[in-house]
Amino acid sequence: METEDKLMIALQACRECDICRTLMDDSACLFFNELYRLFDNEDDKGEKITSDALQNLVELCNFCAICPCPNIRAALLEAKTEFKERVGLDYRIRILEDVERMGKLCGMVPGASNFFLQNKTTGNWIKKFAGIHEACKIPEFPKHHFQTWAKSQNIDKKPAKQPKHKVAYFAGCNGIYIFPEIPKAVVEVFKRNGIELFFPEQRCCGMPFLLEGDRQRTLECVQFNVGQLAELVKEGFDIVCSCPTCGYVLKHVIREGAVYAEDYQAAIQKDLEEKKERLLSIPPVGRSDLWMRQFASGSSYKLFKDDRYFSSISGLKRMRVSEHTYDLGEFLKNLHAEEMLNTALGPIHGNAVYYPPCHLREQDIGEPYVDLLGLVPGISVSLISGDFHCCGNAGIMGFKVEFHRNAVKMGSRLKATIKQMAPEQLLTDCLSCRMQFNQTLPYPVYHPIEILKTSYSAHEKN
Ligand code: SF4
Ligand code: SF4
Repeated sequence: METEDKLMIALQACRECDICRTLMDDSACLFFNELYRLFDNEDDKGEKITSDALQNLVELCNFCAICPCPNIRAALLEAKTEFKERVGLDYRIRILEDVERMGKLCGMVPGASNFFLQNKTTGNWIKKFAGIHEACKIPEFPKHHFQTWAKSQNIDKKPAKQPKHKVAYFAGCNGIYIFPEIPKAVVEVFKRNGIELFFPEQRCCGMPFLLEGDRQRTLECVQFNVGQLAELVKEGFDIVCSCPTCGYVLKHVIREGAVYAEDYQAAIQKDLEEKKERLLSIPPVGRSDLWMRQFASGSSYKLFKDDRYFSSISGLKRMRVSEHTYDLGEFLKNLHAEEMLNTALGPIHGNAVYYPPCHLREQDIGEPYVDLLGLVPGISVSLISGDFHCCGNAGIMGFKVEFHRNAVKMGSRLKATIKQMAPEQLLTDCLSCRMQFNQTLPYPVYHPIEILKTSYSAHEKN
């Protein structure tokens, strides 16, 4: 079936439902505005929705997940990918989407890179060449990226002693190459809790490529990361992500369809065979897990196939990674619940606003940092609640010359809310949001882990 036809089938659901016509005004989402304009023109004036109109339409979604239905977002992403495969990716997107490559390149000569990027004349020329909107502030590259520092601290090797918690840290490209102070703070906070982190070899989580419709690069990244991380899980490591987008990819995105994969089903079957002997000795109430698994390996599951985006990568390994990945805030909150979190925290004064980013909301784990920051004496933290707030940036999308104005418009509601709250500091765990806030708001922006790190130091000084 043609991409346009598949997409129209999905969009018909929104035409019939109509909820998002009023739910999503254009400061929250530009996509629905345009969708209903196209439908109205078709109904009122008989104007057919063309392929070009659909290709423009999918470009208006930044996949913020504010809208109620995940299947619409999935249909948009699938269509965007197929459209891009039809016409090919613009070289400017290939430059911009690859934060890892850009970070490595500019990180080789950070002084010169920053000079040419921040200089008005050369900066504008580079922006034009790379397809970056002229109004965007390009963040400065640090003297040393996190990988270099991690090597100097020996955390790129597994801990020599058998630790009580085996934790592999997935730092994310923005953390490694642009804001290394954040992964450093993560290492410090874990140290304060007696946990030696391991920083394994890793690539971009794949999200920027996925959002740009670059299937090949997405799969390359996910294949590499899943291979590395699944091995570590087998050795007893948990994976912790300080970037909510990386966490969302590793916990949820790669999991889609994985339970139907042949290798996952075979592993369940083997597990069942091994447990068969024990079945009769288990009281009936304790057998439920086994029956569930039996169902999972039964005929109903065999009706389905793992034929989605990531099906070329082992489903068993994807599930292994997904089930052992934690958001950093979630992991620390769990430690606290087990009374294992070091709460020797010193005072930090001031009033802060915390913005829980879209991909944290998608993980459905609440706002763990609100609880953790509640342990820090002195600081007052207000939460931005409600689901209709997005910074608009969506990774690199807000930097693109074609999308920048849309990104600013989509972030305008959140910007107004923050301004109204007039904080002394703004907290968010998403570094893409941080870049957007740095462009559009006057407040200093921190990751909550930086506050925890400072609070541990403040306690030590007291
Ligand atoms: S996204 Fe869901 S709720 Fe919104 S119009 Fe479409 S079907 Fe309705
Ligand atoms: S994911 Fe965000 S931008 Fe895309 S349709 Fe939903 S609300 Fe709009």
